[in-house]
Amino acid sequence: MNIHEYQAKEIFKRYGVPTPNGYVAFSVDEAVQNAQKLGGSIWVVKAQIHAGGRGLGGGVKLARSLEEVKDLATEILGMTLVTHQTGPAGKLVQKVYIEEGVDIADELYLGVVLDRAKEMPILMASREGGMEIEKVAAATPEKIIKVAVDPFIGFQAFHGRELAFGLGLAKEEIGNFIKFAAALYKVYMENDAEMIEINPLVKTKSGNFVALDGKMGFDDNALYRHPEIEAMRDLSEENAAEREAAQYGLSYIKLDGNVGCMVNGAGLAMGTMDTINYVGGSPANFLDVGGGANAQTVAKGFEIILQDKNVKSIFVNIFGGIVRCDRIANGILEATKLVDVHVPVVVRLDGTNAKEAAEILRNANIKNIITATDLGDGAKKAVAAANGGTL
Ligand code: ADP
Ligand code: MG
Repeated sequence: MNIHEYQAKEIFKRYGVPTPNGYVAFSVDEAVQNAQKLGGSIWVVKAQIHAGGRGLGGGVKLARSLEEVKDLATEILGMTLVTHQTGPAGKLVQKVYIEEGVDIADELYLGVVLDRAKEMPILMASREGGMEIEKVAAATPEKIIKVAVDPFIGFQAFHGRELAFGLGLAKEEIGNFIKFAAALYKVYMENDAEMIEINPLVKTKSGNFVALDGKMGFDDNALYRHPEIEAMRDLSEENAAEREAAQYGLSYIKLDGNVGCMVNGAGLAMGTMDTINYVGGSPANFLDVGGGANAQTVAKGFEIILQDKNVKSIFVNIFGGIVRCDRIANGILEATKLVDVHVPVVVRLDGTNAKEAAEILRNANIKNIITATDLGDGAKKAVAAANGGTL
């Protein structure tokens, strides 16, 4: 689960990670009141959406008067903000953060993520803050300093010094930086975060470090331990089909391809997507229907997959272990009566009673159901069907 910048900054404040003062606003009037409450003479009006690159997209703007705060809030609230992370459809801005303007001397980058290979959280820092860190990582990886922290030892001053030296900080800045990084590590660990990104981490003209931006993502499986974070969930930022799927116990993640996938088991679902890519296609989604695939779950799966207009074929790849293939075959036939499946469906059923299942499907003689013998055969047929258009 991800949260907004203003929510991440609320958490930062609780841990002593310095951030500029600010208040979230849901209307233009509230935006102006927030600016008055903050005082000062320079404010930044920041669109709150779950995506980065807002500045470049016109969603972060500086105001030098209350009048300007009003104009910018009017402009930004309700706009559809398109950034490199939103996709071309963009995201509707429903709230803005009004923040005091900061005197920026330098923009750095600091993040904490889980390094799955090392099995440890790592802190990543770079002098190239304010830019897309993905581009820095791709073009000049040596400009990113990474320090792994063994969670049993925890963050120590030497971790902070290694980052600070890598960043080329001045001697008198190092102490402040270490405090900042230590507090951020604590935020990460105590909240079961999956990633924190501060881009930019700003060095102010007075020599302090301030988190000017804040992105946080959390481990969904640990949310039960953090009801206060769960309460920060913004459903309007999440994909409607993914939400609906979750209500029915299906793990669905929308992707950009045109071959819909319905699979039982996360591992087989990953393998199915890899195989589709391998034979030159592109999966439209990840969908794990779980262990108890029946007519209802299969029907729901079809319904959710078909909400995506890019889907040109569906590959049903189910291994019958506990659940028997003949039952699934009947479930698929029943599901096609419940849902109007207007694209070719390639079915590969293997495992217990696979032969009976193949016979059931053959006998049903439904025009847009194509049977496949194995994973490779199924993937090829599904990709070919997707490229051949709808039936
Ligand atoms: P995004 O990463 O989505 O573009 P940021 O919060 O990083 O959004 O803001 C983009 C840029 O706007 C920053 O790199 C910084 O230069 C400027 N900016 C953001 N907040 C402030 C602020 N409070 N004071 C001064 N400049 C700011
Ligand atoms: Mg940023």
